Amino acid sequence: MTPAPRTQDPLDETFWSYCRRRELRFQRCEGCGVWRFLPRYMCAQCGSPEFTWSESRGRGVLYTWTVIHQAMHPAFAQDVPYVAAVVELEEGVRLATRLTACDPGDLRLGLPVRLAFRDLGEGVFAPWFELVESTVEETAAP
Ligand SMILES: [Zn+2]
Repeated sequence: MTPAPRTQDPLDETFWSYCRRRELRFQRCEGCGVWRFLPRYMCAQCGSPEFTWSESRGRGVLYTWTVIHQAMHPAFAQDVPYVAAVVELEEGVRLATRLTACDPGDLRLGLPVRLAFRDLGEGVFAPWFELVESTVEETAAP
């Protein structure tokens, strides 16, 4: 059984509760409109404490990654090797995640990725990502 996220803060709990509904939501400042992650009580740009939980389109690019060969928990032993990645979403936030269904040898910085929630059991849905297969259309967009 994969260990569930252990939240230590109501904002973290809110983030994961949206994930349980398969919604990837980030805080968006009501003062200046900037999206933020990790969850925080105040905007680092303008200092406003007001925010909404806005839904991400779930699209972005591969910002960086590493290939995990040594499982740090028995629950992940069956998964190695796997790709731990940071994706940069269109909304401007970066998220540490897992990139699934890919050949690590094919990865390049900036590849388009999209959200692909993974059911980890017991109501936990992880906001993992996968490569966007048809990149021609994606890279042609302005
Ligand atoms: Zn702000």
